[in-house]
Amino acid sequence: MDKETGKRGVSILGSTGSIGRQALEVVEAHPDRLRVVALTAHSNYQLLEEQARRFRPLFVGLVDEGAAAELRRRLSGTGMAVSAGAECLLEAAVHPEAEVVLNAVVGSAGLPPTLAALGAGKRLALANKESMVAGGDLVLQALREGGEIVPVDSEHGAVFHCLRGEEMRHVESIVLTASGGPFRGRRREDLASVTVREALSHPTWSMGRKITVDSATLMNKGLEVIEAHFLFGLPYSRIKVVVHPQSVIHSLVEFVDGSFAAQLSLPDMRLPISLALSYPERWGPPFTRTVLAELEKLTFEEVDRETFACLDLAYRAGEAGGTAPAVLNAANEVAVAAFLRGRLPFLGIEEVIAATLEEHRPRPVRTLQDVQEVEEWARARAEEAVETQAGNPAEPGRS
Ligand code: NDP
Ligand code: MG
Repeated sequence: MDKETGKRGVSILGSTGSIGRQALEVVEAHPDRLRVVALTAHSNYQLLEEQARRFRPLFVGLVDEGAAAELRRRLSGTGMAVSAGAECLLEAAVHPEAEVVLNAVVGSAGLPPTLAALGAGKRLALANKESMVAGGDLVLQALREGGEIVPVDSEHGAVFHCLRGEEMRHVESIVLTASGGPFRGRRREDLASVTVREALSHPTWSMGRKITVDSATLMNKGLEVIEAHFLFGLPYSRIKVVVHPQSVIHSLVEFVDGSFAAQLSLPDMRLPISLALSYPERWGPPFTRTVLAELEKLTFEEVDRETFACLDLAYRAGEAGGTAPAVLNAANEVAVAAFLRGRLPFLGIEEVIAATLEEHRPRPVRTLQDVQEVEEWARARAEEAVETQAGNPAEPGRS
């Protein structure tokens, strides 16, 4: 909290993305409570320039050096420092004026700033689930030294808030809800020829492209199971997934006495973002008001784990532990990018991940370098698997 203004300083990593832009809407809704300290993106200098002029942060950074040079030119004379390269994420994460660091980067590029923010004792509002999946053991190690995490992922935010005031020994299980994505109800053979456009048409949430594809394969839920394991410390056997197509119940906690606690609201990511930025306070008014009598029905169904095999791949990698989740995540990043480029059929995503995991013997993770080395191996191996499939278009939907 800034002593003079009484405002909480926030660094936003990934400010040009879906979560980052919504976080800035939250800041705009609370000008007397929040102020932007740092903004970073990968290469979108046009939008970052607009955001910088509007929010006047102390620090702006772009990972792409060429884009950063352009932004520096455009912001010259404003007094705003522009940093370039991946180090800008670390600078923003440890900025002395930042009380909260929102990590809304996509992919495991978010791991170094996650560790840096915790190392600097910050409150980390974590949207970047890939950092938890790739480096969960390292994140826990960092948390033992200092800092704290308030989850932004809506499911984990829901669980986090359901657990406030509860003791973990009273928790039976965590139940993560999944919308089921655009292909809910389809059979495996129906998925062989689905297009990028269909995969990007999410029924309930509007999000970045990578997570939208992850939601279509259900790998998003798989990553979230691993994220929940590290965040809440439960074994995988006590982290469950249920399909809830309306996305109104954001997740549940089941207690040993058989009762459940749940968090409900119409789907709007500005709520979990706002909860993470306001924590431990709650701020109104709401962005979206949920009128219970207008909700027609809330339904639940089992996940079709044969059709959406990515979920079990994630459980297996999670159970294997060590470097396995980092391999799962890296292979998924490569496969999703290939699918989005039109290089890989939809079902090829899970095949690439399975083939990569198949060849991996998990090792313990002790350092960031351990993660980065295994990711490098996994990316190369996954690229090879993509090429094998791309050179073999006669079998696009092999299962
Ligand atoms: P987007 O793709 O919309 O945005 C990603 C942001 O990260 C952009 O600002 C982008 O910059 C930046 N970025 C991309 N690559 C890098 C990199 N290598 N290094 C640094 N910055 C990078 O993603 P989302 O906002 O949808 O998702 C962000 C994270 O939040 C993901 O981990 C996702 O799983 C998680 N999440 C998202 C939800 C949602 O509703 N969108 C819900 C729950 C979790 P540029 O624009 O310049 O490319
Ligand atoms: Mg989620």
